[in-house]
Amino acid sequence: MSRPGRVGCPMPKPDVPDIPLDQLLPADALRADAPRLPELSEPEVVRHFTGLSRECYSVDSNFYPLGSCTMKYNPKVNEWASALSGFAHVHPYQDTSTAQGLLCLMYELERYLAEISGLDAVSLQPCAGAHGELTGLMLVRAYHDARGEKRDTILIPDSAHGTNPASSALCGYKVVQLRSNEEGMVDLAALDANLGPHVAAFMITNPNTLGLFERNIVKISEAVHRVGGLMYLDGANMNAILGITRPGEFGIDVMHFNLHKTFSTPHGGGGPGAGPIAVRKSLEPFLPIPRIVKSGETYGLGSARPQTIGRVRSFLGNVGVLVRAYTYIRSLGPDGLKAVSVAAVLNANYLREKLRPYYDIPYDGRCMHEFVASAVRQKEKGVRALDIAKRLIDFGFHPPTIYFPLIVPEALMIEPTETESRETLDQFADALIAIAREADENPAMLQDAPHHAYVARLDEVKAARELKLRWKPPA
Ligand SMILES: *Cc1c(COP(=O)(O)O)cnc(C)c1O
Repeated sequence: MSRPGRVGCPMPKPDVPDIPLDQLLPADALRADAPRLPELSEPEVVRHFTGLSRECYSVDSNFYPLGSCTMKYNPKVNEWASALSGFAHVHPYQDTSTAQGLLCLMYELERYLAEISGLDAVSLQPCAGAHGELTGLMLVRAYHDARGEKRDTILIPDSAHGTNPASSALCGYKVVQLRSNEEGMVDLAALDANLGPHVAAFMITNPNTLGLFERNIVKISEAVHRVGGLMYLDGANMNAILGITRPGEFGIDVMHFNLHKTFSTPHGGGGPGAGPIAVRKSLEPFLPIPRIVKSGETYGLGSARPQTIGRVRSFLGNVGVLVRAYTYIRSLGPDGLKAVSVAAVLNANYLREKLRPYYDIPYDGRCMHEFVASAVRQKEKGVRALDIAKRLIDFGFHPPTIYFPLIVPEALMIEPTETESRETLDQFADALIAIAREADENPAMLQDAPHHAYVARLDEVKAARELKLRWKPPA
């Protein structure tokens, strides 16, 4: 599109002397040829980038059934609030007396998350779910250390999220994986066999990555507490249980939230998140500093805590995400938050039942906010979960999570969320049903899907192993 001399914005003639480059730079710093930069008008540039942005899929453009990620629609009122200049332009080195509104918001957000979790104290510092896990496990360690106990093992069911064993290992713990039984629940015999004075904590994702609520959670908590261990909850799936049950009531001692999932901040593509942790009183002395403190009507930062694990984040965390979560909680209120989970669970069960005749659905009973289907039936025809995911792109949908959790072969992990209408769910189910038919009738066509996308089937392994980050102009 480039035309010599075409410019985006006109510049005035320079009013300083024109000096040739070779009088300013040494010869070895000069190019032999001028760079091939495109010369374009402003509208051409704007249209180019707007066009590229339309090739991107987002939850503002269509349904995003990405299991375990809670890709729900994020209300725009959250964006409005986080862009208010008192929040957006506050500087971390500002005196706290001039940031009272923000500190009040953070103080109240801590109280709301404590109420939602049924636990006593909250730190907003961790800036992602996995960071919350690491911080929570550091608290577990500090707690046992303070009691003079040497415990080196974290027990983790095989239905946990992959970050759970990773965070445990990063924190210096040994990980023992517990198998699930045929109902997708923790095998209590396996738990018993592994409990002992070496266990620092039991770390559970509940609802788990199969989308199932652990029915024996109270029994498990009691057994772990009996041997002096603590209970850690990966709370990334709070979208399923808001206002219905509270982790503090089923025996959890420490948990993290994923504000960017459950409490509605746009995420993905490495965008900012927030992974606050909530703890029982017994763990509060170890929380990161600074703490948000209130004395009278004044808010401040408190760092005088002898047993703290220290800072886990510069300044106050990802404040923009905290403002969005606060806005989301305040705009919905307690009844609204409960309605979120009721609708999220209803939507997942609706889709699951619509797909049941066409795909294998392991594990009986009801699911929570997400479910796992399996393409084992389609695989007999040579069509894999990957092919189905790629074909969905042709139907205009973002593919679901695939090959996770690992305990289901050819897994398709679907989380519709509460923000989708019945019509959208029906369209998505129709697409998956049409693909199941195609798998029967024309499996070869699926094996190189997508056919109507911006790019065809990519070699994902090659893309990951042979990164090409340098752009070379066409010869
Ligand atoms: C997303 C997720 C995590 C990790 O959270 P990040 O914010 O991506 O670090 C952990 N556990 C579960 C169950 C999740 O879904």
